[in-house]
Amino acid sequence: MAKDVLCEVNSCKYWANGNKCNASSIYVVSHHGSNQARNSEETDCKTFEPKA
Ligand code: SF4
Repeated sequence: MAKDVLCEVNSCKYWANGNKCNASSIYVVSHHGSNQARNSEETDCKTFEPKA
C-alpha cells in the first residue's frame, strides 16, 4: 500500500503544498488496452478532480 503520494498536479482539488495528495485513496488507471500500461506515460490518476 502506498503510504505517501507525491503529485505535481496542482490543479487538482486534492493537491496540497509540497506536492502532497490529500485524497484518502487514489485510483490509477491505464490508458493502454486491457490495463497493460507499458510505461508511466500510459498511467494516470482517475481520482483527479479539478479545483472549483
Ligand atoms: S487525487 Fe491524483 S491528481 Fe489529485 S492530488 Fe492526488 S494524486 Fe494528484
